[in-house]
Amino acid sequence: MTLLEACRYGERELKRAGVPEAGLNAWLLLEYVSGCSRSHYLAYQEEELSEEAKRRFLEVIERRSKRVPLQYITGTQEFMGHSFLVSDQVLIPRQDTEVLVEEVLKVLKPGMRFLDLCTGSGCILLSLLLGCPGAVGVGSDISLPALKIAEKNRALLGQEALLLESDLFEHVEGAFDLIVSNPPYIKSQEILGLMEEVRMFEPVSALDGHEDGLYFYGRIARESCSYLKAGGRLYLEIGWDQGQAVPELLREQGFQEIEVKKDLAGLDRVVTGVLRN
Ligand code: GLN
Repeated sequence: MTLLEACRYGERELKRAGVPEAGLNAWLLLEYVSGCSRSHYLAYQEEELSEEAKRRFLEVIERRSKRVPLQYITGTQEFMGHSFLVSDQVLIPRQDTEVLVEEVLKVLKPGMRFLDLCTGSGCILLSLLLGCPGAVGVGSDISLPALKIAEKNRALLGQEALLLESDLFEHVEGAFDLIVSNPPYIKSQEILGLMEEVRMFEPVSALDGHEDGLYFYGRIARESCSYLKAGGRLYLEIGWDQGQAVPELLREQGFQEIEVKKDLAGLDRVVTGVLRN
């Protein structure tokens, strides 16, 4: 099987399985198993794949045909320009979440102490530390397997951070200048309507925001009052239709200067507020 034949075969199989962007997926999987660069591929399309590469390629095409997300097959996802390890125990970092990180980086300063609740792969926590050397970061997650991935990412990216197994604030101590979170926020009954890759393979505990999708926002808004310093800020990623409800939850807890920021698609994505007293 040549590189070209592999790409064509992969694209055909993935199309048949209904995988979006079948051609791109086939190429990325070929790159993953063969280590072949795009420019090498374009110059040497007739090159034969080794038996081992061919075997692995057929295997990964089959897995992707079953709608296993590309990132769970390759084990990595780029986020904020850094490479993060992922497994099916963590949510795959989303580009939408970069808006949250960018908003926080506007106010995060060296010496500030911040908390990332529901840290998952650690993508938010570690991107903030990389973007603001000298800041002090704590990450918490209820899932021990997720924390193991976050710990690997921490070590690979050479950052210092405290990682806690904790149901939101349960084992968190001290006061923070900033609290950040991208908690689970999908309404339970909407999970079945999500694309197969998400619904069948991503951890449901990282998606499910209970009946109204607002369960974690309510708890975070209430409990963060005991962990924010005076003048401290809360930053939350939200779903496109939560730009009214989540600010209301913050208002009820006495947050001020509440703002909703949009993502690159023009949808409500981040809510922030400050606690003055
Ligand atoms: N904070 C992680 C992320 O943004 C995980 C979020 C989650 O599990 N809901 O990728």
